[in-house]
Amino acid sequence: MSENIQQKIESLREELHQHNYNYYVLDNNTISDFEFDEKLKELQELETAHPEFFDANSPTLRVGGGITKNFPTVRHQYRMYSLDNSYDFDDLEDWEKRIIKTIDEPVEFVAELKYDGASISILYENGKLSQAVTRGDGFQGDEITNNVRTISDIPLTLKGDFPDRFFIRGEIYLTRKNFDKINKIREEEGLDLFMNPRNTASGSLKMQDSGEVRKRGLSAVLYQYISDEFPGDTHWEILAKAKNWGFRVSEDQAKLCKTLDEVKEFITFWDTERHKLPFEIDGIVLKVNSLKQQRQLGYTAKSPRWAMAYKFKAEKVETELQSVSYQVGRTGAITPVANLKPVLLAGTTVKRASLHNEDIIKKLDLHEHDFVYVEKGGEIIPKIVGVNVDKRTHLQTPIEYIKNCPECGTELVKIEDQAIHFCPNELHCPPQVVGRMIHYVSRKALNIENLGGETIEQLYREKLVENPADFYTLTKEQLLPLERMAEKSAQNILDGIEKSKEVPFEKVLFGIGIKHVGETVAKKLVKNFSTIDELKNATLEELCQVEDIGMKIAVSITDFFQNSENILMIERLKSYGVQLEKGENTNEVLSHVLEGKTFLFTGKLSLFTREQAEEMVEKHNGKNISAVSKNLNYLVVGEKAGSKLKKAQDIGTITILDEKQFLDLIG
Ligand code: AMP
Ligand code: ZN
Repeated sequence: MSENIQQKIESLREELHQHNYNYYVLDNNTISDFEFDEKLKELQELETAHPEFFDANSPTLRVGGGITKNFPTVRHQYRMYSLDNSYDFDDLEDWEKRIIKTIDEPVEFVAELKYDGASISILYENGKLSQAVTRGDGFQGDEITNNVRTISDIPLTLKGDFPDRFFIRGEIYLTRKNFDKINKIREEEGLDLFMNPRNTASGSLKMQDSGEVRKRGLSAVLYQYISDEFPGDTHWEILAKAKNWGFRVSEDQAKLCKTLDEVKEFITFWDTERHKLPFEIDGIVLKVNSLKQQRQLGYTAKSPRWAMAYKFKAEKVETELQSVSYQVGRTGAITPVANLKPVLLAGTTVKRASLHNEDIIKKLDLHEHDFVYVEKGGEIIPKIVGVNVDKRTHLQTPIEYIKNCPECGTELVKIEDQAIHFCPNELHCPPQVVGRMIHYVSRKALNIENLGGETIEQLYREKLVENPADFYTLTKEQLLPLERMAEKSAQNILDGIEKSKEVPFEKVLFGIGIKHVGETVAKKLVKNFSTIDELKNATLEELCQVEDIGMKIAVSITDFFQNSENILMIERLKSYGVQLEKGENTNEVLSHVLEGKTFLFTGKLSLFTREQAEEMVEKHNGKNISAVSKNLNYLVVGEKAGSKLKKAQDIGTITILDEKQFLDLIG
């Protein structure tokens, strides 16, 4: 029986690895997303029921779930060097001359894109991904294996004829599309926006929850093989081999150049074409193709002599500042925007530039009608990088930052550590009121599909809705007179609103828009407080006991419940039948052996992930709690358990188990 299950698990794993490779590397999908998900689900269920067949490289672990509290430091077996930079063709010619001095035979170059992300070194042993480490200072970096496993472009197991043990290096990056998607969600959730894809990619790699890393949608490309032995004589050959083992390699957009002229052609082409790529590059990397020649050239103290980065110049133009306007975001944050005389930059017409905040305006010493330099660097929105003061007359006055909200007149407040101004009139400032309702109906909240932003704005202008509770009293007679509203769409909206009464508490809690309470925090709160009233009555101390909830979030929650308008809204939502309590646990229960018992997992687990463990507890009718206290019955400890173990030992009444003993308990 168990042998059959093991076989089944292994064949599912193999099949899913192959589909992943077809999809991400070959770009040739042979099964539907639905079928893929079904198979993945099947595997996940088998693995949960049979933790003894755990494999750190199972495709199910791509979905993440493992939590890393501290990333251990790992020394690189082969140092990760930087690259020398060049900025024009003269620099390149000098480089070629230096090479020719050492090598008196023809030299070929591989020209690759210089991907703008975070570099990574991945160790493969016996065809399995075994460790991934960030560049760090080049000598040592952080081990982020769990997070890297969630990136679909990176194979967990290899195919074909690969060496037993080698490192492969590459870049982890975010496409512009995924970057925009992340920021859109952050905007909806009232979080600060990220500045550029590069920083977001490297920040994502350091998140503790690998499930969250997965959601970021990172991409990866590999461009360097390192080991004591090489499976070929040239860089170009090895890239082709690595592709066959299952890697997405730089070769796809690279060129093998026989002369420096060909290199220059490649650079000129990509200097303009790069704007059409779905991701950002900041230059071109050139590598001497022959490994023998590479060895002859060797390294300087900082970088290989056989490689060179060519950096593109950030494009810069001069234009006139026509005015500064101020946008009030859905969260009340004020963004100053420079309105410019339209000008062509990096292939697009630019009319506006972000000014970010008052400090930047002051630093630029911006005056009305200044001529400004606008640049498009790593950031998506162009920015003003300087002023042509020669063109300024003594009649121009400095730009004065506004004191009051342009939408509602309320005096703005400045949050010191963020250098940003906010309109504090959360409940009545029009964009904030509308923003809150749009957030309420959004997909991850109440998911009221047919009620879009424009309709909500209209309803608000007509004074039909002012907060989410008002949706539930809307009638067809009120909807029909709106622009472009037919009988059918009005009915769909009403049906959607009605259906939202079934949406579970955690989504409602996310939807009502308490500052800093995002999707994940809402989930954690619902685990600890099963009704909105329990949450309302919770003290700051009680809130801070919840995993991942600190003072900032706790204060925001108690503030929310101190406002009588919010209380009224909640009471109304309750009276309309919106879910403000945790529903019956619909999860299938396998047994009652853990009935009434509480569990907490600590340390590095090796037989199962924390999420799988907690799921097992729930399936056997136990309860997970998040802190060590007298209420805890069992502490399950993995490797390197720390303060929680000590605290549990001090309390004395808590049973301490290792992972195996825990499995015995339920099996
Ligand atoms: P820099 O950070 O400017 O010293 O440039 C070196 C970095 O460029 C490396 O650490 C890599 O992260 C990155 N890089 C991007 N694309 C490539 C590529 N095709 N080959 C080598 N390095 C690359
Ligand atoms: Zn306002």
